[in-house]
Amino acid sequence: MGRAIEADVRVNDARASRLHARITTERDSQTGLTRYRITDLGSTNGTTLNGQLVTDALLQDGDKIVVGEHLLRFDMLDEIDREFQRQIHRLLVHDELTGLLTSKSFFSELRREAARAEAESRPFCVLMMDIDHFKQVNDTYGHLVGNQTLEEIGAVIMRALRAGDVAARFGGEEFAAFLLDAQYAQGLVAAERVRAGIEEHHFKITRHSSAELEPQTHRIAISLGVAAFPEDARDPIELIELADTALYRAKRTGRNRVCAYNALAEEDEEQTPLPARSE
Ligand code: GH3
Ligand code: MG
Ligand code: MG
Repeated sequence: MGRAIEADVRVNDARASRLHARITTERDSQTGLTRYRITDLGSTNGTTLNGQLVTDALLQDGDKIVVGEHLLRFDMLDEIDREFQRQIHRLLVHDELTGLLTSKSFFSELRREAARAEAESRPFCVLMMDIDHFKQVNDTYGHLVGNQTLEEIGAVIMRALRAGDVAARFGGEEFAAFLLDAQYAQGLVAAERVRAGIEEHHFKITRHSSAELEPQTHRIAISLGVAAFPEDARDPIELIELADTALYRAKRTGRNRVCAYNALAEEDEEQTPLPARSE
């Protein structure tokens, strides 16, 4: 629990530390039952359990935990409660428009897979993607066509990736993916497949007043940035930031293209800085 974007339970207030407290499970050797333990991670303002500051304590059903200015309740759930929670969770982890992961669940998946890749010395790539001039789609065809387009973009991205790859909608018209066991070259090939897939796709324009006419279509483009583990960085959040830097460059250098982070250093030495993106 904490203020960090990668926390499982994100407590977004200034009085919480980035990594504030942790809840772990353990087995009671006598009863064989699972117990839950809360441990303060050296937070600045401390962790309060039922009104007492604690550094380490066992949790009971209904316990009240204060982290920063947030009051949280620890609940032990039965099977029916859990099925309900699972259904809620399914709704929360998937973006309702595209069915891709939300950014929050993408972060937790990425952290888990990055730890595994680190432990097993396996490569992976992170892709950041942003639709080019998406505002024009809304301005030209309206917000509903914009939403329909986002839905189709999600499907095109999924088709372009392999079964084990994980894609997310980062809100708006920004998307991200990570590709397990992909070396830099494979990551760039996959990114190019996404770029070409979007460029070639005919996106539907559904207008209710002209339902019986042939459906019209429109075309768009996408820019992508790629960063690779372990070449560019080992930390998953840093990899996202580097892929985003590469994406920013793809935008500045003409859009509808893929940029690799590792190619940036040399290019930057040769060129004078371009003005900041004004959009
Ligand atoms: P650029 O090539 O620089 O990325 O240009 P852009 O127009 O895509 O970028 P900008 O960030 O200026 O605009 C993004 C637009 O995406 C603004 C907003 O209207 C639209 N948008 C964001 N989320 C949604 C959504 O959920 N539905 C619809 N229809 N439009 C959205
Ligand atoms: Mg954008
Ligand atoms: Mg955009």
